[in-house]
Amino acid sequence: MPVDVPVPAPRLVVLAGPTAVGKGTVAAYVREHHPEVWLSVSCTTRPARPGERDGVHYHFLDRADFEAQRDAGQLLEWAVVHGTNYYGTPRGPVHEVLASGRPALLEIDLQGARQVRESMPDALFVFLAPPSWDELVRRLVGRGTEDEAERARRLTTARAELAAQEEFDVTIVNDDVRRAAEELVSLMRSDHQPKRD
Ligand code: 5GP
Repeated sequence: MPVDVPVPAPRLVVLAGPTAVGKGTVAAYVREHHPEVWLSVSCTTRPARPGERDGVHYHFLDRADFEAQRDAGQLLEWAVVHGTNYYGTPRGPVHEVLASGRPALLEIDLQGARQVRESMPDALFVFLAPPSWDELVRRLVGRGTEDEAERARRLTTARAELAAQEEFDVTIVNDDVRRAAEELVSLMRSDHQPKRD
């Protein structure tokens, strides 16, 4: 008789962390090297940066379209990030992918992670941390894609986000993109149990 081996449920992993910590870079590494992992494509009202493609990096929407999706209940979570633009995760694709048995990754901000924790408490919540605060500031300034006012806004958000680390199941330090991404993917495969109060 075959032994009944419990099959782990397809894993939803939510990756959050302070701005400029490198969440996007870690997610891009996973996209390139681990095609078995499905990456959610968020909706946003911010304009595309050079090299970003609609439907690949984000669904770029105007405010009216975003609000229509939100009001129709089509977003799993949504937030105004850095006080300016809407960001949100389309709900349908996440459920479809998990039902198909494929692990899914959401790379979202802290407010969004808290909402997913309410609606999908079995997900694994991973905090991507910088090696240090100084390193985080260096990365934010070094990226050079935001003006001075935007950088200041993002640093304020980052301070609050760093303080939220304790709410997460696991912390991964982004000291090296490849190492951090591989640690993340191995968590998606493992049966690491979310810590719960
Ligand atoms: P960026 O504009 O640099 O691509 O992203 C800004 C912030 O928005 C990042 O912290 C990113 O994790 C977050 N973000 C991206 N997509 C979503 C989403 O669907 N929902 C939420 N709540 N935050 C998101």
